[in-house]
Amino acid sequence: MTKWVYTFGDGKAEGEAGMRNLLGGKGANLAEMSNLGLPVPPGFTITTEVCTYFYDHGQSYPQDLKDQVTEALSFVGRLTGRTFGDRDNPLLVSVRSGARASMPGMMDTVLNLGLNDVTVEALARSSGDPRFAYDSYRRFITMYSNVVLGIEHHHFEQVLDEHKDRKGYSLDTDLSADDWKALIGRYKTLVEKELGKPFPQDPQEQLWGAVGAVFGSWMNNRAIKYRELHNIPASWGTAVNVQAMVFGNMGETSATGVAFTRNPSTGEKELYGEFLINAQGEDVVAGIRTPQDITEKARIASGSDKPSMEAAMPEVYAELVRIYGILEKHYRDMQDMEFTVERGKLWMLQTRNGKRTAKAALRIAVELANEGVITQEEAVNRIDPASLDQLLHPTIDPNAERRILATGLPASPGAASGEVVFSSDEAEAAKKAGRKVILVRVETSPEDIHGMHAAEGILTTRGGMTSHAAVVARGMGKPCVSGAGAIRVDYAAQTMSVGGVTLAKGETITIDGSTGQVLQGSVKMLEPELSGEFATLMGWADRVRRMKVRANAETPLDAKTARNFGAEGIGLCRTEHMFFDGDRIISVREMILADDEAGRRAALSKLLPMQRADFVELFTIMSGLPVTIRLLDPPLHEFLPHTEDEIAEVASSLNMSPDKLRRRNAELHEVNPMLGFRGVRLAIAYPEIAEMQARAIFEAAVEAGKATGQPVVPEIMIPLVMTKAEFDLVNDVIVSMAEAVAAETGVTVEYQVGTMIELPRAVLKAGEIAESAEFFSYGTNDLTQTALGISRDDAGSFLGSYTAKGILATDPFVTIDQDGVGELMRIATERGRQVRKDIKLGICGEHGGDPQSVRFCETVGLDYVSCSPYRVPIARLAAAQAALGGNVASQA
Ligand code: PEP
Ligand code: MG
Repeated sequence: MTKWVYTFGDGKAEGEAGMRNLLGGKGANLAEMSNLGLPVPPGFTITTEVCTYFYDHGQSYPQDLKDQVTEALSFVGRLTGRTFGDRDNPLLVSVRSGARASMPGMMDTVLNLGLNDVTVEALARSSGDPRFAYDSYRRFITMYSNVVLGIEHHHFEQVLDEHKDRKGYSLDTDLSADDWKALIGRYKTLVEKELGKPFPQDPQEQLWGAVGAVFGSWMNNRAIKYRELHNIPASWGTAVNVQAMVFGNMGETSATGVAFTRNPSTGEKELYGEFLINAQGEDVVAGIRTPQDITEKARIASGSDKPSMEAAMPEVYAELVRIYGILEKHYRDMQDMEFTVERGKLWMLQTRNGKRTAKAALRIAVELANEGVITQEEAVNRIDPASLDQLLHPTIDPNAERRILATGLPASPGAASGEVVFSSDEAEAAKKAGRKVILVRVETSPEDIHGMHAAEGILTTRGGMTSHAAVVARGMGKPCVSGAGAIRVDYAAQTMSVGGVTLAKGETITIDGSTGQVLQGSVKMLEPELSGEFATLMGWADRVRRMKVRANAETPLDAKTARNFGAEGIGLCRTEHMFFDGDRIISVREMILADDEAGRRAALSKLLPMQRADFVELFTIMSGLPVTIRLLDPPLHEFLPHTEDEIAEVASSLNMSPDKLRRRNAELHEVNPMLGFRGVRLAIAYPEIAEMQARAIFEAAVEAGKATGQPVVPEIMIPLVMTKAEFDLVNDVIVSMAEAVAAETGVTVEYQVGTMIELPRAVLKAGEIAESAEFFSYGTNDLTQTALGISRDDAGSFLGSYTAKGILATDPFVTIDQDGVGELMRIATERGRQVRKDIKLGICGEHGGDPQSVRFCETVGLDYVSCSPYRVPIARLAAAQAALGGNVASQA
């Protein structure tokens, strides 16, 4: 017989933390906390296998499930001394979903289940507090009707608001027992009207309704969307947790809250969180009341006039501190805990590894290692390399003028500017149209996930640090300001106003998620830098890393940025990017438009000093580190003017007839330029271009070498090679230039000549090419394009259906297609090494900064990866994790 149900409670459990796949994250941790002897209300978990069964069998349950649930209910009954459905002493339960990974978008929670017209009276008697009993019942009707019966929340809100208006109340706490009782009657009428049948009174029917709703929500659109975004397979399923109720709404000695063992925004080691006295869990998350701080320190910092838990409930606070120590030590990581206090007794409802910002993740990992809780290698493995992106983005310049509109909570750090939009659909549409937006909402819900993804940042006017917006934004690494209560959002008018300023949709604001400020207009930002824990962790990563990390850079600014971020050289300098600047483009055009070699040489001789000066600067910035310079790659027509106005302008500046320009344009026009006259083919047709570039490189190496006192060893790279013969022809040009410059200057420059591997034929002939080439650099942008026969510029229009249908796991231009392109890399590596044992191997396509691809490069045995400057730290960490054989993104 399959065991479908696992119980926990009273210091023991049938499950444990390791059974996450079966029990879901919440269930496994409830079991674990019970085993640790922590105060957990008894309950049971219906396994994820039931969910799988449910969907495999036309949404039905295994036959023996009912008996196992009944037995588990009586186990809970024995521990609590109550009976489910009993009219005098009823057991009430909560029902919660709990997948392996926490999943917003699924049915979350139904509290107070088991209440009906009869049991509510028993609860009133046993608690001696009728108001509490009716309050709990009306909460149950609202929640159950909403998440199980599908009646929207606002119907109930409306009834409640009408009642409050009529009685002249402003707060929910103004309502008496009789008020709630009257409202319960109206709520039931509402349900019957909406549903055509009465609110279910039978606790068994309620329970199975809630269980069915949890399983049903596994396949709702929001959950499906979330799984898509986070690569969670539908086959995992969710578990259902049923747990004896404890009540945070039993008066002033009761409370409910959430707490982190370390600050999830900054990583500081301090108990951090929020709680509400006389409330139930959903009140904290929903942002209906402003929560209170847990510690005095936090209360003082926030300037709140409401007492902290430390002051209001010192014994409970002490117990929470004790438990947090136990949990953090046990799980060896920062914990995110949910708790309820019932008449002075603390109960733990959940613990899990807490979500955190990248900044906090670094500090926590480094401090846990320094505290000896984890090793430095584990610390390195704990950081998701991609999350570092959050820290590698600009922040607001402290000297910039700030026109502060309002200040909310600093919910997720980083700064962002964008146009105001008020709906997630609009955010998504604007993003598609290439515009940057800030999503402004009163509050967000799981329906807003797509808009939050599309936005640069999120601003809400309601909700605390643990509101939906705050939690989700932190997970996404997006700046967020939450609870900016001074701002009034008018969805109908599409405006936001504060302090006499009204901004309409489309106007620009800036949010600073590190201070909570909302600013008018866009504001000057500062470049990020590596320091503190970030630098420490990078140092640990560097110690275990085998592959070197270089950068793709050609401008002095990019090269400096790359070096600051720890780049160990330049893996790709695209010389064509140097051709567009200032006067150069004129000489480049002159060269392209020349009628013969003599004309071309004349133009190239003007380019030579400019190109040489560029290289001197680059070699100087990168002094002591290798620099790979690639010869001209793109089709020449990219440099020519195309519109009539431009043609007229260029023709006159070059003293040439516009007709001739048009003719040359037509000659150079290609149907398929990516497969056309580009790469090494340019140097084959016009060796004088390669000659000029090689001369510029060698002369610059001599000059920079003298100036810095460090010899420069340039690596000259030939693009788009497919045969050894091509390589040899261009190599000859380079070698003769090296000799010429040595003769002229008396300085012999050491150098290497290598090639990009970006065509399948080059892969197959890698052995032959390696007879001449001293290094290979995989140009995986072109290699992907040419291997898959998919244009890198046009893939966007159809690739989406390939990933959506699972034909390709990921976008092959983002993450290496390991089965195809990856195999080509392996073949070229093997054939190249067979001929030249010590051939240097690297990658310089966009994939060089993608953590998963970096990991793959480690398995191929490349010597280095090269990526854009801002991704250098990401690649350093990914390379370290790859060397450790750890998860590239181990943080669930
Ligand atoms: C490549 O093709 O991967 C590459 C780095 O070159 P480019 O992107 O300049 O074509
Ligand atoms: Mg290329």
